[in-house]
Amino acid sequence: MSELIVEILEDFLGDSKKHYKEKCQISFDCPVCSYDIKGLEKGDGKGNLEVNYNYHVYKCWACSETYGTHGTINKLIRKHGNRLHLKQYKLVIPENRKRLVPDIEHTIDGLPQEFTPLDIERENFDYKKAITYLSKRNIGIDLIKKYNIGYAVNGDYKGRIIFPSYDDAGEINYYLGRSYDKYIKLKYKNPEVSKMDIIFNEGRINWDSNIYLVEGVFDHIALPNSIPMLGKILNDVLFKKLVSQAEAKVIILLDSDAKKDALKLYKRLNSTSLRGKILIVEMPEGFDIADVHQKLGKKGVIKLLTTARKIKESLL
Ligand SMILES: [Zn+2]
Repeated sequence: MSELIVEILEDFLGDSKKHYKEKCQISFDCPVCSYDIKGLEKGDGKGNLEVNYNYHVYKCWACSETYGTHGTINKLIRKHGNRLHLKQYKLVIPENRKRLVPDIEHTIDGLPQEFTPLDIERENFDYKKAITYLSKRNIGIDLIKKYNIGYAVNGDYKGRIIFPSYDDAGEINYYLGRSYDKYIKLKYKNPEVSKMDIIFNEGRINWDSNIYLVEGVFDHIALPNSIPMLGKILNDVLFKKLVSQAEAKVIILLDSDAKKDALKLYKRLNSTSLRGKILIVEMPEGFDIADVHQKLGKKGVIKLLTTARKIKESLL
């Protein structure tokens, strides 16, 4: 049993560092320390994340306090693995531990209760703050309506702009809560489901037209028929869907600080049946597409898109 858990963990955390079999304790490079904090593509080599597969818990010795990197293995998989890992874990977990894995098919139950659409003008402080924040980012009422952007005056999402994500049946499959208060530490607040299992605004994608792969939700709003990866990594659900459904070109537009990730992504997609249909747009230094939209508007975005190009295999 235990070897199987180790195998599942290694599949998304990479090779283990130390393994004390008698204690059921195993360590890995922490994905939060390595990727989220240091921006490394590989592990930081420190092996700070310890997992105990007897107690089914994990903790990072470096960042657990500040980043909440501790909890059950179930949480670890939800945060950094995918649905398949969770399924496999549920199969190998002992009967008396099953309660630690609540509902594997768990999906979110609509938007937060306090969600209020921003398309109707209201006389309150939060409404004005939210609208001001969005208009600074060149997001006006047309885009607010198009994407059903909202906010909340109380509850967990108070002080945040809420971006709903719709699946292909028009149901909510995810949402993002972006704080408009610059003093808030946690910029984004998201629901408990893993972003690795969903395609943000899948229901809005036209698979027959050119598709743009972008990083964040503001990039997504600036660019029609784009999909935000909600990070620099393409999740497996989206990867499979692109390979099987994309009929036209797939254009990669990652931030200027993610050139390596963009090339990696190019290579990965170009070695599938999408070969020859992948293009890349190189961002001006220090920019993402949302910045271009904010500063130069639609025209600036279009101008940038015309620079999309293929990359020679020898340069990858
Ligand atoms: Zn850590």
